[in-house]
Amino acid sequence: MSTSIAERFTPRLQERQHQHLYRTRALVTSPQQPIMQINGLTVVNFSSNDYLGLANSSAIKDALITELNSTLSGVGAGAAHLVTGHHLHHHLLEDELADWLGTERALLFSTGYMANLAVQQTLMQAGDVIIGDKLNHASLVDGAHASSAEFKRYPHNDMAALERRLQAAAQQHASCTGQALIVTDGVFSMDGDIAPLKTIQTLAQTYQAWLMVDDAHGFGALGQNGKGSFEHLGLTPDANTILVGTLGKAFGTSGAFVAGSQVLIESLIQFARPYIYTTAMSQLNAAASRAALKQVQAAQVSRETLAQHIRQFRQGAQALGLTLIDSPSAIQPILLGDAHTALAWSEQLKQRGFWVGAIRPPTVPQGQARLRVTLCSTHTTAQIEALLAAFCDILAQQKTTFTQ
Ligand SMILES: *Cc1c(COP(=O)(O)O)cnc(C)c1O
Repeated sequence: MSTSIAERFTPRLQERQHQHLYRTRALVTSPQQPIMQINGLTVVNFSSNDYLGLANSSAIKDALITELNSTLSGVGAGAAHLVTGHHLHHHLLEDELADWLGTERALLFSTGYMANLAVQQTLMQAGDVIIGDKLNHASLVDGAHASSAEFKRYPHNDMAALERRLQAAAQQHASCTGQALIVTDGVFSMDGDIAPLKTIQTLAQTYQAWLMVDDAHGFGALGQNGKGSFEHLGLTPDANTILVGTLGKAFGTSGAFVAGSQVLIESLIQFARPYIYTTAMSQLNAAASRAALKQVQAAQVSRETLAQHIRQFRQGAQALGLTLIDSPSAIQPILLGDAHTALAWSEQLKQRGFWVGAIRPPTVPQGQARLRVTLCSTHTTAQIEALLAAFCDILAQQKTTFTQ
């Protein structure tokens, strides 16, 4: 029996609407920056991942203009990396990323989503096991499902549970050659907390597991030199560690990279389908990302400003009695519980001139809907103060509604 697309999806769309889970795309008509035009409104933006304010950086724009006026680049890559798409700017960006992170090599991907599919699909085989944190980014979860390995999860940052999964894998594989891979976000994208990488690294070494860390929100923003969660925690990745970073967040451009050993990178080039069968990102984006890397490397002051903003916001929010998560990063969620409340608060903030996204299931677990406030170095203390005042206002209004 067959049905039309409309018959299948109309009820599903209606159900989403009734559950307050319907998603819409806000229309942006300004650069990504603290004050933006969104849906025709002028708002202070507390939703983006542009942590260092590089998405509209004049230094990066200048680099792009120079590039466009040169005879080196043109516009599109025109082909995959293994055909004729691998431009000098891609090559140099890879070298510069590897030098910066102290890994043997790095490899560019068009998106972080594809990098996460590629690594897990390519590295892991039938008989292997991927052990991932329950709150890992959706692209890591999809990457695990896309591989032929078995996929186990452990409760968020629960190291005893991770060790039990590793023990079970070791017993199961005692007689054969199955390999375990631990997979975790560095900074968790919806909670902002950091994985306990010291313990995870020790466990990986003890159980001879490989370790994959997706530090999309760590690179650029965390660590004295912006080298992410490892630097923040005073750790160095070992030869069996795979780092994944994105260029679309603190770097302000787009795309992603995998950094690690020579053998890892060569294996991805030879065998990773999301690397091989896709057009290279534009060389213009690679040139822009090279300029962005220079900015990231020199952004000590911005990172300090960001850290001050984080302290200011947390102190203010705590004083108001808002429920925060124990997050040291630029991601500062305010837990509200149900999707309806999160949407209502987001709407009230919008009316007061602040753009703060409501994050609802299935992106977060049921009952954990939240506002996801993100801070950037380019915010001013006055803008953060004003956001806190708006929260205070909404809380006061709620009290009067309850007592009426
Ligand atoms: C954003 C994000 C990704 C996806 O990266 P894109 O380049 O946007 O596809 C992967 N992992 C994490 C943790 C992210 O936050």
